Amino acid sequence: MKLIQTLCPFCGVGCGLEIVSTATTDQEIKRDEQGNPIWKVRGDRQHPSSQGMVCVKGATVTESIRRDRLLHPMIRETLDQPFRQVSWDEALNLMVERIQTVQRDYGSDALSMYGSGQFVTEDYYIAQKLMKGCLGTNNFDANSRLCMSSAVSGYVQSLGSDGPPCCYEDLELTDCAFIVGSNTAECHPIVFNRFAKYHKKNPDVKLIVVDPRYTPTAEAADLHLPIRPGTDIDLFNGIGYLLLRWGDIDAVFIDECTRNFQQYAQLLQSYTPEIVAKRCGITIEALETAARYWQQSKRILSLWSMGLNQSSEGTAKVRSLINLHLMTGQIGKAGCGPFSLTGQPNAMGGREAGGLAHLLPGYRFVNNPQHRAEVEQFWGIPEGRISPTPGRTVWDMILGLEQDEVQFLWIAATNPAVSLPDLERTKAALLKSPFTVYQEAYYPTETSAYAHVLLPATQWSEKTGVMTNSERRVTYCPGFDQPLGEARHDWEIFAEVGRRLGFKEQFAFQTSADVYAEFVQLTSGRPCDMSGLSHDRLQHQGPTQWPCPAGSTEPGRQRLYTDNHFATPDRRAIFGGYHSKGLAEPSDPNYPYVLTTGRLYGHWHTLTRTGRTNKTQQMHPDPFIEIHPKDAGNLGIENGDIVEVRSRRGSCQFPAKVTAFIAPGTVFVPMHWGTLWASDAEANTLTHPHACPDSRQPELKACAVQLKSVISHQLSVISQEVDS
Ligand code: SF4
Repeated sequence: MKLIQTLCPFCGVGCGLEIVSTATTDQEIKRDEQGNPIWKVRGDRQHPSSQGMVCVKGATVTESIRRDRLLHPMIRETLDQPFRQVSWDEALNLMVERIQTVQRDYGSDALSMYGSGQFVTEDYYIAQKLMKGCLGTNNFDANSRLCMSSAVSGYVQSLGSDGPPCCYEDLELTDCAFIVGSNTAECHPIVFNRFAKYHKKNPDVKLIVVDPRYTPTAEAADLHLPIRPGTDIDLFNGIGYLLLRWGDIDAVFIDECTRNFQQYAQLLQSYTPEIVAKRCGITIEALETAARYWQQSKRILSLWSMGLNQSSEGTAKVRSLINLHLMTGQIGKAGCGPFSLTGQPNAMGGREAGGLAHLLPGYRFVNNPQHRAEVEQFWGIPEGRISPTPGRTVWDMILGLEQDEVQFLWIAATNPAVSLPDLERTKAALLKSPFTVYQEAYYPTETSAYAHVLLPATQWSEKTGVMTNSERRVTYCPGFDQPLGEARHDWEIFAEVGRRLGFKEQFAFQTSADVYAEFVQLTSGRPCDMSGLSHDRLQHQGPTQWPCPAGSTEPGRQRLYTDNHFATPDRRAIFGGYHSKGLAEPSDPNYPYVLTTGRLYGHWHTLTRTGRTNKTQQMHPDPFIEIHPKDAGNLGIENGDIVEVRSRRGSCQFPAKVTAFIAPGTVFVPMHWGTLWASDAEANTLTHPHACPDSRQPELKACAVQLKSVISHQLSVISQEVDS
C-alpha cells in the first residue's frame, strides 16, 4: 500500500489527509483503465489539526483531479477566436514580449496579477519576487482580498500584527464559543466538529451563534441571535456596554497591556440595551443573556469568517469584536481569544509571503521604507525598485481595465468571472482587457472565456509545497501524481518568466524546497518567524505551528501574546471604538429585501472541483433562494416557484425555498454557481463592490434586492405533465 500524508486543498481548516493507493503487489499501484493511479482519501489521524476527521469535500477530492484539465498552452489574438495549441516557448515568449512592451509604453503599473489562496506558499513567494521586486509594481492581489483581508487589518490595527492568536485546541478548552458571521458547521466543518463534540460532553459550555439565518451552526447553539444584517458592531458595543456597567472587565489587563480604553468606554455609553436590541432586531433579554455568557465565562473564544470580513466596515467589525477580548483580558490564554477562520487552504501562507497588494514577505508592508529596504537587499535588486505605494486590489484592477490603465492582466488559480462583485461590470471590464493570461489547472472555467493566453498549471496532487492553516500550522504537501499533459507548477511558470525577462540570478531555483528555504529566511525576526522550518523538517517532524525561529527545537508555538506583549511599538494592544454605519446598501422601498450570500457544506467556491465530483454535485445539484414564509406569503411565492431577484446592478432567477430558517426581510442565495453550472443564477450579479476603506474587502455579504415570482411551481408542473 502506498500512503501519502498531505493537506486538504479546500478550506482553511487545513485537515490532514492520507492519500492511499491499494497496491496489488508491493511495487504496483492500482490503476484505472487509462493507467492512472486510483487514489483513495481518508483523514490523517496524526495531523494535530483534524485528528483523522475529514468532511465530504476532502473525502472526495481525488475524484476531480483528472476531470476537464487544461493540458497544453493555448493562445488566441482576440476573444472571439478559438484557442490554438502552442508550445510553452511560444506562449512564454509572447508574454515576455508583451510585458516588456507594456512596461515601455505604459510603465510597470499597467501590469497586474491576481492570484489565489489555492497557491502553495512557494507560488505566492515567487509571484511577489517577480511582480513587486523585479517588475517594480505592487499590483499583486489574491482572492483572499474577498475572504479575509478585514481580519488582517483588524489584527494589525488592534494587536500590531496579523496572525490569529489562537489554536484549535482552544475549541476544547473554552467555556463559551461566540460564533459570529460564520456558518462554521457547513463552511469549516471539522473546526465545528471539534467544538461540537466537546460542547456535547460539557453541558456547562455555551455556544452563542450570531447569524440572520438559522443555520446548522445556529441549531447547535445555546443562544442564537438572528441580528439584522449590518448590525454586528451595535451588538458588540451593546455587550461591551453591559460588561462595563456590570463592572466585569479586567482592569489590570486594560491598564497594563492596552491603550485607548477611555475613548472606547466613552463610545460605549451610546449603546444602551434598548437602543442595541432595537437596531439588531433582537430582544433585550437575548442581548443580556449573551453579555451574561461573556461575564460568566473565564475563557471565551470568538470565531468569525466572511460574515464580518465581507463588509464595508469589516475592519471596524473585527476590531469591535477584539475590543471585547481586550476589555475582559481574554486573549493570549488557553481557551480564549479572537480567532478568524480562513477561507482558502493557504490564504494564511499568502499573508506570510506578502500576497496582497499592500504587503511584502514576512508580514512586511510596502509603505514602510525599512521593510522595502530589507526585502530589496535580500532579493539583490536596486534600492528603490519596490514601489512605496500599495498596488491595485482586485477591484482596482477591474477599474484599471475600465480606464485602460491595466494593459496586462495575469490571473492564476482563481475564477473572478464568478467570484467578484457586480459581475456584469466585472465581465465587461474583463472583455475590455487588451491582454489576459489565465493560468489554471481546469478548462473550461467561467474565466477562461476572457483569456488570450491559457497556461496549464499543475494542481495540488501534482506539486510539492507547503500550506498554512487557520491555526498557523504549516504542513508539507508532497506532489504524488504525475502532472497531466504539459502542466507546470505555478511557481515554475513565474520563475521562468522572470528568467526570460533577464532576472536569472533571482530565479535560479531548482526545486520548491529551494524556494521555501529562501522564503523562510525573510521571516527571520518577524512575527511570523518560520526561519526554523524547511521542507525536510516538516517532512520529518510533521505539521508545525509558527513562530518557529531558526535554532528552535520546539514544535512551534500554540498561541500568540501569552506574555501579554503585543506587536505594537509600545507592546500594548489598542482599543479601536467604532460607531456602526450599517450596510453600504440598505433596503429601501424600491429594493425592500436584504440579500445575503454564503456557502453550502458540499460545495467549494465556484464549483471548479466540487461541480466535477459526483457526490457533492448530487448533494447540492441546484441553486436556490431562501425566503421567510411571511415574505413569501406577502409576495404570493410558494416553495419551488421561480423567483426573479433584482438589485440595482442586475437580476437572476432562483427556485424558492420557503423557510423560517431565514429572518423576515432577508433572503439567502449560495454564491457557488456560475454560468457553466446553471443559467441566470450568479449571486454576484446582484452584489456591489463597496468595500471597507481599510481592508478594501468588498461587501459581498449584503445588498438590497426586490423579489417577484415569475413562474409558479404548480403551473410549471402542470405544463410539464401536458408536454409529456
Ligand atoms: Fe477539507 Fe475544510 Fe473539509 Fe477539512 S473541513 S476536509 S480542510 S474542506
